[in-house]
Amino acid sequence: MSFRTKFNLVLLLTFGLALVLATAYFRNEVQQATLDEVKHEARLSLQAALAIRSYSSRHVKKRLDLGEDALFNPDGVPAFVAMETMRILFEKYPGYQYSEAVLNPLNLTNEAQEPWIREIIENYRSGKTPYADAEVSTHIRDQTLHLFRPIKITDASCMACHGRVEDAPLNMVRIYGDTHGYGWKLGEIVGLQAVTVPLDRARERSAAAFGSFLWPMVAVLLLMFAALNILLQYWVINPLSAQNFKLSHQATTDPLTGVMNRRSFMDHFQLEMEAARYKYEPLSVLVFDLDLFKTVNDTHGHDKGDLVLRDTASLVKAGLRSNDKLARIGGEEFALLLPHTTIAGAKGLAENLRRLMEQQSIQNPPRTTGSFGIATWDGRESRESLLKRADDAMYAAKAAGRNCVVVDDSVHRTN
Ligand code: GH3
Ligand code: MG
Ligand code: MG
Repeated sequence: MSFRTKFNLVLLLTFGLALVLATAYFRNEVQQATLDEVKHEARLSLQAALAIRSYSSRHVKKRLDLGEDALFNPDGVPAFVAMETMRILFEKYPGYQYSEAVLNPLNLTNEAQEPWIREIIENYRSGKTPYADAEVSTHIRDQTLHLFRPIKITDASCMACHGRVEDAPLNMVRIYGDTHGYGWKLGEIVGLQAVTVPLDRARERSAAAFGSFLWPMVAVLLLMFAALNILLQYWVINPLSAQNFKLSHQATTDPLTGVMNRRSFMDHFQLEMEAARYKYEPLSVLVFDLDLFKTVNDTHGHDKGDLVLRDTASLVKAGLRSNDKLARIGGEEFALLLPHTTIAGAKGLAENLRRLMEQQSIQNPPRTTGSFGIATWDGRESRESLLKRADDAMYAAKAAGRNCVVVDDSVHRTN
């Protein structure tokens, strides 16, 4: 896996994690804020209903109270006034509702029907849920927020209608009957005031707020991803590649002549041997050494000797095929790896090179001649063995008087 792939994987993982965490955190915050807003709306509505109830009970009820013979008038009942006013208020707000749910109401439309609401009332009555004047409880059911406040009988005047049935206004008993809505006690919790607020709009608002956070965040992360990749390319990968190329060039090249060094030559040797074995092709090696090179140094100086080494390498390189590989394997000793080349082909090439060097030694002294040794691979031996045979042949050429080519034909390919 490349460095860039690893880097991007880590980056994507980090960004992904950041996105997931930020999303979870922000979604929660937005939902909480929207819910708080809805609760606030519900409390405000409840407060409005309480205000209407309170005004009605303090002022309106008193005015309609015409004495003992008076007929029951629903406009004097604070609960009724509050519910009617809130109904008008909520006409333009579908889903919003104010109601009073009572366990034992006079008007059965106010009876707490749903079991879960009856249970809440019972919990208040039994003290399981502690009662406090200002206390409200919120419940979320079916995409709706319900805000409840217990109704506690604290006003003795309530008992005129809800106490004993025989004390209640006659026309009221006629309207509602004498079986329910009586027997209330002072201090008793009889039911709940309830405000319901639909959550669908709030959910839409929170989704919109969440979307307005999410997409810019994704865009910022994508921009960071692109920017980091560009920086990685220009600040890390490009300089590193250049450095790597330089280092690998230094590790494989002879600094004086620019041809392959011995180590790199041996690596290529191995690869070419495997290819030759696989394709069943000939492979030959040529070794040559400059003749009496010490004299060049001694007579013309070391720098001049260096120049001769460089020029000789260039001369040989110019006469090679693209697959042939030239290396400097010793001080003034070079080797040539010749793929697809038989011993006869290698001999021809060696003769050409020998002649070229000879010409140069005459035309451009102190350039010097070379002694050549060649050997071809027997299909089994190691590269060291093949190189040694070529080297030995080169020494044989030295012994034969230098400036000549010696072929090692002691072994032949049999496999
Ligand atoms: P022969 O024909 O038997 O090979 O004789 P020769 O003088 O070439 O061989 P010898 O081994 O006696 O000397 C090799 C010389 O090559 C000695 C050494 O100073 C010189 N030499 C080796 N490497 C370098 C180099 O990088 N630069 C220079 N200028 N000379 C080098
Ligand atoms: Mg020499
Ligand atoms: Mg030598």
